[in-house]
Amino acid sequence: MESATPVIVAIDGPSGTGKSSTSKAVAAQLGLSYLDTGAQYRAITWWMVNNGIDTDDPAAIAAAAGKPEIVSGTDPQGPTITVDGVDVAGPIRTQEVTSKVSAVSAVPEVRARITELQRSIAASAAHGIVVEGRDIGTTVLPDAHLKIFLTASPEARAARRSGELKGVDVHSTREALIKRDAADSSRKTSPLAKADDAVEVDTTELTLAQVIECVVTLVEEKRAGK
Ligand code: C5P
Repeated sequence: MESATPVIVAIDGPSGTGKSSTSKAVAAQLGLSYLDTGAQYRAITWWMVNNGIDTDDPAAIAAAAGKPEIVSGTDPQGPTITVDGVDVAGPIRTQEVTSKVSAVSAVPEVRARITELQRSIAASAAHGIVVEGRDIGTTVLPDAHLKIFLTASPEARAARRSGELKGVDVHSTREALIKRDAADSSRKTSPLAKADDAVEVDTTELTLAQVIECVVTLVEEKRAGK
């Protein structure tokens, strides 16, 4: 690819693999925008909970999917997320939202709405963008210049997550992660999956700095047309 073309990087994988930290750092280092698509699914889930929609009722979720206005700020140094103008960066990380997001994000009407939003954000990123999620390489941006699929052992992922959520024990974090991955991987509409042309990076034995360096090198090689 020519270096003037805005580069589009898709980073997918299950939770706890270091997707967010890696994606933000790579974008910041390379002067690219950054989009956390999990935050968008969390935001729509937060809105459903806040508006009394039963998250176990796919028809009710589908009927309301078009209502909330979700806006993502894509500066990797300070990404933002609002719903109907309200900053929800904190509330979307609660246990309640985390436990309900897989059910909400499995509803096709929700995915159609959020996917459209993601494509328009990627298309308007003048200097290119790093987009992280579960289905970016397979469904949202199948023509991305570079696709990365991050993995790690369940133990490493649970240890990282419980380090982030202070006071939560590793065992229950591991169980919750496995449950969420199973739901995300088995849903009918664009499940968590590695694209055939994605580069898989197992982060179990790597430090965050090593993963960042690995992805930055891959982007630079792409830009140089290697
Ligand atoms: O990345 P994060 O853990 O914040 O994602 C929260 C949830 O959003 C995932 O468990 C999944 O249900 C959903 N998601 C998705 N597709 C994406 C990103 C996230 O379905 N591209």
